[in-house]
Amino acid sequence: MKYVSFILISFFLFGCDSTQDTKIIPPLAPSDLIEHSQEFEKQVISVSEKIHVAIGYSLANSIMVEAEEGKIIIDTTGTIETGREVRSLFDRLNPYPIKAVIYTHNHGDHVFGARAFVDNSETEVIAHETTEEYINRILGILRPIINKRSSRMFGSFFPEEAIENNGIGPFLEIGREGRQTSLVYPTKKFDESLELSISGLDIHLFHAPGETNDQIFVWIPKYKALFPGDNFYRAFPNLYTIRGTPYRDLAGWVKSIDMMRYLEPDLLIPSHSKPIKGAKEIRKHLTDYRDAIQFVHDQTVRLINKGMTPDQIANQIQLPEHLKSSPFLKEFYGTPQWSSKNVFTGYLGWFDGNPSTLNPVSEVEEAERIIKLSGGRSKIFSEAKKSLDEKDYQWALQLTDYLLLDDPSDVETKKIRTSALNFLGEMSANPNARYYYLSSAAELLPTFKEPPLLTPTKETIENLPIEIVFEILKVNLIPEQARDKNLHLSIKFTDSLKSFSLILRNGVLEVQPFEIGGSSVQIETDEVSWKEVVTGNRSLPVSMATGLLSVTGDRVSLINFFNSFRE
Ligand SMILES: [Zn+2]
Repeated sequence: MKYVSFILISFFLFGCDSTQDTKIIPPLAPSDLIEHSQEFEKQVISVSEKIHVAIGYSLANSIMVEAEEGKIIIDTTGTIETGREVRSLFDRLNPYPIKAVIYTHNHGDHVFGARAFVDNSETEVIAHETTEEYINRILGILRPIINKRSSRMFGSFFPEEAIENNGIGPFLEIGREGRQTSLVYPTKKFDESLELSISGLDIHLFHAPGETNDQIFVWIPKYKALFPGDNFYRAFPNLYTIRGTPYRDLAGWVKSIDMMRYLEPDLLIPSHSKPIKGAKEIRKHLTDYRDAIQFVHDQTVRLINKGMTPDQIANQIQLPEHLKSSPFLKEFYGTPQWSSKNVFTGYLGWFDGNPSTLNPVSEVEEAERIIKLSGGRSKIFSEAKKSLDEKDYQWALQLTDYLLLDDPSDVETKKIRTSALNFLGEMSANPNARYYYLSSAAELLPTFKEPPLLTPTKETIENLPIEIVFEILKVNLIPEQARDKNLHLSIKFTDSLKSFSLILRNGVLEVQPFEIGGSSVQIETDEVSWKEVVTGNRSLPVSMATGLLSVTGDRVSLINFFNSFRE
């Protein structure tokens, strides 16, 4: 009786097999994307005598700053294996212990390699006060879909050596075979700014919201060295990421870059792409970067106020020539078009203002009507085929939407769709779009297997706050299974001494972090056992029989409760 193994199976798969039956190699990339790969040539660059950047080992750089009889690491790469590889190179340059690790923000490519750099509790792990919460969110309620869309965007389905580059690094190593992520939570947190002396070196940290809300930058006055995290790199910024993200505040991002500009750095060492030297050079590129962000923001708002829709704005917005031609603003990561749509939804939400989009006919119904109107499936099919032959790939792709909404099993249409996606991917110099198209084509293959990107390890799950586990539980409730159910459970954790009340009312699970009287079943267990039962790594009946889960009251209620999560 595996009552619960299904509950979080999509959230927490252990040891997933990532190998495909057949390896698919993507087509050759456009020449400018190939040229951009030079930015990520594997090497340790010594920016100055005391500052070294490991670039090309991971999607993100890892940076070492030497102090007196100790060193500081800024960002840790995305996996323990990559972290160890980089650390051994750093240790060769400087054998002193690592005194502090600084996370510029919560993203996995900056924090998941931390275990390789943190030897013991004497290594301080420093981050913004909200970073921990955001790290937990990566593993939280949206993990399944962000995972899927990230896999497409980074091309995780393809062999790593076949990835031309991911725009801000060579390839995303997280989730690839033989690579493990680690989770080391910050031990020192700050709000607006923090001044530290680490092994005799003065370091200033500033909160600088931009690519993420918890973003910080590091300033070392002695060297006039600035480490901007992901608020600056050699590509148009990801003001919106197609894997999905909460609104990224463009106005705040501009302000953060301005804080950096007025410090007048001599060295700029980003967490992606190569470092830049020279105050004049740095000032020019930071100014162009903040101007591009402000331009997209301001011009989108201007067009919003004219009553234009996100689609119309995206079709109109164009960076001025002097910004477009900047080598730091080439569309190798974000694009002004995607960004403007994000500004629109950030300010006004999903409704584009057109009354016909308020309550439209469903996508499926629209497809049926368009097919009928145009004279049947064969008409649309031959138009899609013709568009493909005429290299009008986007239109071919959109026509296959109608055909597949109407009949999702149509093999011949899928072939046209696959070709259109492959051509669009092959032509695209933006790696996010390129791998999203190519991965979507690969997904249409019968041999396709989902890559296990961001699969948390056992250690990660054990460390995950129990509150997050309950959040995940809530969004896995199947309303049809919970219809007319009114169940009240209480759980007491013997190790953390935390108590929770779970009240299932029809289609809603209320969870409160305290005991509410009147429960029909009471459970006592430790947090790890509960997580293991919920993730299906421990059987509920066996746990009850062995007393690992001590249950008093109505056991049928408990089984009924877990059945509510079964598809
Ligand atoms: Zn990053």
